[in-house]
Amino acid sequence: MSIDSLTALVRTIPDFPKPGIQFRDVTTLLADARGLAELVDHMAAVARPLDPDLIVGIEARGFILGAALALALGKGFVPLRKAGKLPGKTVGIDYVLEYGTDRLELHEGQVPHGVRVLLVDDLIATGGTALAAAQLLREQGASVLMALFAIDLPDLGGMAALEADGVAAQAIIA
Ligand code: AMP
Repeated sequence: MSIDSLTALVRTIPDFPKPGIQFRDVTTLLADARGLAELVDHMAAVARPLDPDLIVGIEARGFILGAALALALGKGFVPLRKAGKLPGKTVGIDYVLEYGTDRLELHEGQVPHGVRVLLVDDLIATGGTALAAAQLLREQGASVLMALFAIDLPDLGGMAALEADGVAAQAIIA
């Protein structure tokens, strides 16, 4: 299946969650058996040569792709969650959104010092979420080998923002 065919499986929903946003809905791709397998194959082909120790996925759709990738590579998976969701002791980072702030948290000790991490999410827009995630992982002493996404919205400049911060970034669909 070509990248164009994968792209065609992603549905765009206008004005969600608010007017003016073109929401790129990856659930239509995930629901397609061949599309899901090929997307994960493409992501694994990028990730495998880096030989990460651990896959870290960002809530919520980063959990789906991150866990699939972790299985494909034979690695463990750690979730980065929104505030207040993880039951154990956490470390976290607050970050600024267009309106207001948000927070990502990680179970303390699940990303040990020196570990080499691959960060995964479904989509990069402005890059604010992934930048905060990478900063939190670095604060734990991890090195972020790459931030890998299914979809990039290039007009929003997220990949460039990550690379300017020294985080290698790649997306399968642009
Ligand atoms: P950002 O921090 O601006 O790069 O936004 C990335 C996060 O928000 C990811 O977790 C995405 O799932 C979600 N997101 C942002 N914009 C969109 C969009 N247009 N369509 C789907 N998801 C989006």
